[in-house]
Amino acid sequence: MSELHTFIFEGLPVRGVIVRLTDDWQQVLSRGHNYPAVVEQMLGEMTAAAVLMHSNIKWNGSLILQVMGSEKKDESPVKLAVVEVKSDLTFRTTAKLVHAVKGDESFHQLINASNRARCAITLDPEMKFQGQQAYQSVVPLWGDHGEPLASFALAIEHYMLQSEQLDTKMVLAADSNAAVGILIQRIPIKGENNLAGTRATFERSSTEDEDAIGQSEDFNRIALLTQSIKREELLSLSVDDILHRLFWNEPIARYAPAHPAPRFQCTCSRERVASTIRSLGQTEAERMIEETEGIQVSCDFCGQTYRFDGIDAAMLFMPAESVVPPKI
Ligand SMILES: [Zn+2]
Repeated sequence: MSELHTFIFEGLPVRGVIVRLTDDWQQVLSRGHNYPAVVEQMLGEMTAAAVLMHSNIKWNGSLILQVMGSEKKDESPVKLAVVEVKSDLTFRTTAKLVHAVKGDESFHQLINASNRARCAITLDPEMKFQGQQAYQSVVPLWGDHGEPLASFALAIEHYMLQSEQLDTKMVLAADSNAAVGILIQRIPIKGENNLAGTRATFERSSTEDEDAIGQSEDFNRIALLTQSIKREELLSLSVDDILHRLFWNEPIARYAPAHPAPRFQCTCSRERVASTIRSLGQTEAERMIEETEGIQVSCDFCGQTYRFDGIDAAMLFMPAESVVPPKI
């Protein structure tokens, strides 16, 4: 069962989230994609990161994490990797490969060779008011001096530090069975109630110095502990065992789940495909039907195929009143 838990270190200005996607992650991979293991790992880590990020913000809409590989031919095997997470933590994900992988590539080699990839996080509101746009942030996929990042998690940590002004530690791991991630974040104390609601934390951490990035000894210690977990442990241990292994000597308290468990769900539908065909216009749709004996569209995320033959397509372009059954 896929699960997500939030926790706090009682009396300390630090909170955490752990996500472990299992059956839902396997379901993503079973949709006929046949990704090589290194791509499964990359996509799984991106998926765990996106679910962690959405669970950590109050946002009524989608969070879309996407990496677009280099436009230059033969530079990176992965052209595109996308994860979309909705407010109820349903997620879907897909990748597009343009050439074969050797199998031992790093994240950098897979998608960002020559530092030409672009990574973006988009927050797309569920209900848009007129003229409202989605918010998009660019996430650098290299270090300050253009050096390759050792992991994708570092890119997200850096983004969260910049955007939220809060120290963040993220560890991620994925294989064909599970996609797992832990997010640890310093809680802003000044002028706010901390999540534990304990007076002790407020008094201990309310000085200017402790509120500054990198200055919380408690956060630094817990971040170091978090970083100590091995990939194999993240992938094989249960949530309880991971938290015990890392924080057995820390005052950890778990919250009752505030979110439904994350799960795989695709939002594609026949109606959405129909409206895409409508947007092509009748002439173009008829031309496609003639050439290929119907229109067939497969969803990149879930593999579902939608077919429209000549009659289906003709119905799409009929005036609305002529396809509504007459009232008796
Ligand atoms: Zn779909």
